[in-house]
Amino acid sequence: MNKNPYARLFEPVQIGPVVTKNRFYQVPHCCGMGHVRPRAHAAMRGVKAKGGWGVVSTEEAEIHPSSDLAPYAEQRIWDKKDIPALQLMTEAVHEHGALAAIELTHSGHNSTNLFSRIPAMSPNAQAVNFLYPKQARRMNKKDISDFRAWHRQAALNAKAAGFDIVYVYAGHGMSVAQQFILPDMNNRSDEYGGSLENRLRLTRELLEETRDAIGDSCGIAFRFAVDELKGKDGMQFQEEGRAVVEILAEYPDLWDVNVSDWSNDSQTSRFQPEEAYQMPYVEFVKSITTKPVVGVGRLTSPDLMVKLVESGALDLIGAARPSIADPYLPNKIKEQKTDQIKECIGCNICVSSDNFTVPIRCTQNPTMGEEWRRGWDPEYIKPKITDQRALVVGSGPSGLECTVQLARRGYQVILAESENELGGRVLFESSLRGLSAWKRVVDNRVHEILQKSNIEVYKESRLKAEHIDELGINNIFLATGSSWRKDGIGRSRRKPISGLETITVYSPEEAVQNYKDIKGPIVIYDDEQGYLAGVVADHLIAKNIEVVFVTPASVVSPWTDSTLEQKRVQAGLISSGVKIMCNHSISKIENSAAQLECTYTGSITELPCETIVMVTERISDTTLYDSLVQNNLEGKTQYNVQIIGDAEAPGLIADAVYLGHLAAQNFEADEADIQKGMFMREMPSLK
Ligand code: ADP
Ligand code: SF4
Repeated sequence: MNKNPYARLFEPVQIGPVVTKNRFYQVPHCCGMGHVRPRAHAAMRGVKAKGGWGVVSTEEAEIHPSSDLAPYAEQRIWDKKDIPALQLMTEAVHEHGALAAIELTHSGHNSTNLFSRIPAMSPNAQAVNFLYPKQARRMNKKDISDFRAWHRQAALNAKAAGFDIVYVYAGHGMSVAQQFILPDMNNRSDEYGGSLENRLRLTRELLEETRDAIGDSCGIAFRFAVDELKGKDGMQFQEEGRAVVEILAEYPDLWDVNVSDWSNDSQTSRFQPEEAYQMPYVEFVKSITTKPVVGVGRLTSPDLMVKLVESGALDLIGAARPSIADPYLPNKIKEQKTDQIKECIGCNICVSSDNFTVPIRCTQNPTMGEEWRRGWDPEYIKPKITDQRALVVGSGPSGLECTVQLARRGYQVILAESENELGGRVLFESSLRGLSAWKRVVDNRVHEILQKSNIEVYKESRLKAEHIDELGINNIFLATGSSWRKDGIGRSRRKPISGLETITVYSPEEAVQNYKDIKGPIVIYDDEQGYLAGVVADHLIAKNIEVVFVTPASVVSPWTDSTLEQKRVQAGLISSGVKIMCNHSISKIENSAAQLECTYTGSITELPCETIVMVTERISDTTLYDSLVQNNLEGKTQYNVQIIGDAEAPGLIADAVYLGHLAAQNFEADEADIQKGMFMREMPSLK
């Protein structure tokens, strides 16, 4: 029998007193569920354990009310009352032979304490990290000793909840231990400040006390950001980052190393296309400690994983996003079905969910966050109910997902697409600068479609109602998408911009297609305020086109704040010399000039404008849907017709994928079941 080339990834690894069955390690990551939605959380982590991850971790777990992250939905282990909810997770993880890990956290001045109303505390007195005019107070000696006692008690409670690995956390700028280590945040003159030894004192005490409390049966992990990516202004892996590892080398049972802050740790593919991008920073760690090391960097390629283990860079393959995009990644590698891996596209929609305090979503994996509420699993879907056939019109992300899932259920599916390539909007968006990884949404699905004998694909087939009549299929899913409007109606202005007929107006697609014809500066008008206008600007700049960026928003691409990209987006445009006009809407075009209206005062500024790219709003393509519904109404046909994706309501690619998946799940389902999934929520106990 052929030896599995990835066998090294399935070797057990000792982590203190516990052993993980393989090298796949889901590092702590936020999920918008936390203590608020314990059942949803347990089910989500349980699916990852089922998918083969050897270790499955929680997100940050607040250890005390003085570190309250509300409104964010993180874990809580304030006292014993939190144990039963956490136990749901450890049981779900243990059921599949995985280890459960918990990241104990006190956030220092990274918590606003909006719920507990206790003043935040930190090594120094300083502003809290969130935009709230409030400061943390300086921790005194009693605070430090209280904090150590809370941490110890939380570790004992974690053990009681069934965790196998307990973290001491010093990463992301989000934990008090790290704040003590960083000189920028610690100007103390007592034994906890000054020299590195002193700044590390608290962390060393935490590691020792955690071991003393639970080290007999739990592994002690230390999550440490070796570099802040601030150059000489911050922690650097060649300097103090290394020194910390040298001093604490043998203290923990496991080193979980990364870079800080969160936007650096979870970089998007747009700004960091490289897989394993953190390796240059963290690979030194193994040469210093004898303890196992886990690291991350959007690792999805099994060959690279083996290389990282064999070259001695890592012992454990860490993943947050790759485990979200594909909870079954380890099992697929084990079964040598690597072509079936759903690869993370690095879009950070998952991160945005946490920032909006809602259960985690994923562009690639629409079942993420629906494990408990709807009982979804990315690899299992209920079988077909009857032998009916289905027609899916449109092969964008919604149509592709719907087709794949209907076929997985066993239905015969016809997929019709008017273009000669499958992919819809993703083909355009992934052709833009920085977004090439987004093509995986199409590639992964088209690959599966080609393997299935129950799907027929018709390209270059623009369907009209009469074609559908000829096909004789009763169940029709219309994923016909949307197009960008060009009249200026957008988020901040519900009237068309007048005078547009006197200049050249492009949709985003037209601007990119016709860039060679663009003469002189082009105005990109972003009244969608999402990501696309910023990406188009970046793309055109790379083609040497002079761009002026106008938006009613107060920053460029404000949505991208939720994906941790906004600063990079704006910095990129500024450094490319783009003229940025925020807080201005365009009211009319006159004499080859755009009249910009200040969103606060209404005062008018004129901007020369011969060519404009409108990124304002999209119009759903409902033509076919409308005619089928009309035929039904007139009694000519009796189709079961459903409109999905951007044709129903334009949104993110993640929304389109989700709606395609939902439609396939709900096909021929009981109405009561559909309603049940929609109304499921976790009710507070009134006992
Ligand atoms: P979504 O994001 O909802 O999946 P997209 O805009 O990405 O939507 O994709 C819609 C796809 O539908 C496009 O590829 C488009 O060419 C195709 N399409 C639209 N109308 C028809 C039609 N009448 N027949 C076949 N394909 C169509
Ligand atoms: Fe990856 Fe995007 Fe899914 Fe997050 S949402 S796991 S970045 S594909």
